[in-house]
Amino acid sequence: MNKIRNYINGELVSPLSKKYMDNINPTTGKVYALIPDSDASDIDLATQSAIQAKKEWGNSSIEYRFKILMKIADLIERDIETLALAESIDNGKPLTLARNIDIPRAVSNFQFFATAIKHFASNAHELTGEAINYTLKKPIGVVACISPWNLPLYSFTWKIAPALAAGNCVIAKPSEITPMTAYLLSKICMEAGLPKGVLNIVHGLGSKVGNAISEHIDIKAISFTGGTETGRQIAKTAAPMFKKLSLELGGKNPNIIFADCNYEAMLKTTLKSSFANQGQICLCGSRIFIERTLYKKFKTDFVEKTKALIVGDPLMEQTDIGAIVSKQHQDKIMSYIELAKKEGGRILCGGEKVKLDGDNAEGFFISPTIIEGLSASCRTNQEEIFGPVVTIMPFDTEEEVLNYANSTVYGLSATLWTDSNARINRFTNTLEAGIIWVNSWLLRDLRTPFGGVKDSGIGREGGFHALEFFTETKNICIKYE
Ligand code: NDP
Repeated sequence: MNKIRNYINGELVSPLSKKYMDNINPTTGKVYALIPDSDASDIDLATQSAIQAKKEWGNSSIEYRFKILMKIADLIERDIETLALAESIDNGKPLTLARNIDIPRAVSNFQFFATAIKHFASNAHELTGEAINYTLKKPIGVVACISPWNLPLYSFTWKIAPALAAGNCVIAKPSEITPMTAYLLSKICMEAGLPKGVLNIVHGLGSKVGNAISEHIDIKAISFTGGTETGRQIAKTAAPMFKKLSLELGGKNPNIIFADCNYEAMLKTTLKSSFANQGQICLCGSRIFIERTLYKKFKTDFVEKTKALIVGDPLMEQTDIGAIVSKQHQDKIMSYIELAKKEGGRILCGGEKVKLDGDNAEGFFISPTIIEGLSASCRTNQEEIFGPVVTIMPFDTEEEVLNYANSTVYGLSATLWTDSNARINRFTNTLEAGIIWVNSWLLRDLRTPFGGVKDSGIGREGGFHALEFFTETKNICIKYE
């Protein structure tokens, strides 16, 4: 059985306890690899190796870091098929999605931040005739990156690349549910010549490895993406230690559709923003509000198109909807579908587990689900489900839909479909969300600030925001003679 190993001090090593956990393929429901069940002692080992490496890496030239990060990007690109297959098997996502989105994005993450660091300039402020101030951006030292299972290599590299580019040494923990591509990345980093100790990847449970990261005194910053409750726990431990924190948390994003929108473009994109990656993207629009005059037509077309989506083996080219990442998550999603029914929701399509044939008979599949007839304030419409489940609701006025949209504790993203510039201005000013897409969805420019408001988190990733997070600012004031 394939044994995943930790990557510490430039080597692939077993966890100190020698304990392993099962890694399950969500498409078959069967164990197909073993994951290190690491603990605080492995985190300490990784941190000590990062401390050893930080002086040299932190003082290395930007050109040197650029070359190594670009080499990593090249090797990911070379291995795109292997990595995409590994991602699809580990996560259950369609292979086409992993091949066209996830892995190419990991390449872009390294290329983008390798280049960005070359343009990350310092400021100078002159007190005319008296003194000159200049501001340096120094690496923090040892930092941690903790990422979730939904976009495994994509979000892992989105954090690691800027942390390394800025000159930090990193302790990184992928989700124990999807560790495979992080393991393959360790091998790529070794081949690329990344100096030992600069990146350390420790696999294991959030409750052990994650906690140990939050508690470790020598880890000075944590960039975390995951659920809001986990973010709260990390902040509880790390904030009193004055660690720098970037928390990218959950969402319950509204998709607001006005009758004057480009209907065909809206319908096509709404299908994606509802069900891409089995609805397991923090940016999916799970609450769909439709202007009443368009409601009936939208409902008919949307249900028809959703029913035509193919739930199947993620490795098959024609599959639209792959497996849910784990049995536990499948149960959670199904419990929300039951809750929706109790709350008075009508299931327009889906709402069931799907049983496939042969090797996939024990896989964790759910048919894409549309629910109507719920109030905006019920639990189904307030809590994050994070699966292929959306609700549709009609509205009559702008004020009404704005209240619905802003009524949750979350504020990650929002999507707005309309042809009216005046309305775009009104809504983009008042929607409580860190990211708003108008007449589009998930159109990403890596330079833009990425993050949420309210319980969707604190801090921004992306572009120079990430480099700001991963550096300490030092001001020097020199008095003129
Ligand atoms: P979790 O919060 O359960 O886990 C995220 C990561 O944190 C995992 O690596 C997990 O490890 C680890 N972890 C768990 N407990 C702790 C702890 N006490 N201390 C430190 N680390 C810990 O999220 P999921 O993996 O279930 O991901 C889904 C969530 O992520 C959703 O809420 C989604 O909205 C959010 N998300 C947010 C995004 C954003 O950009 N805002 C983007 C993508 C997802 P382990 O897996 O081993 O438990």
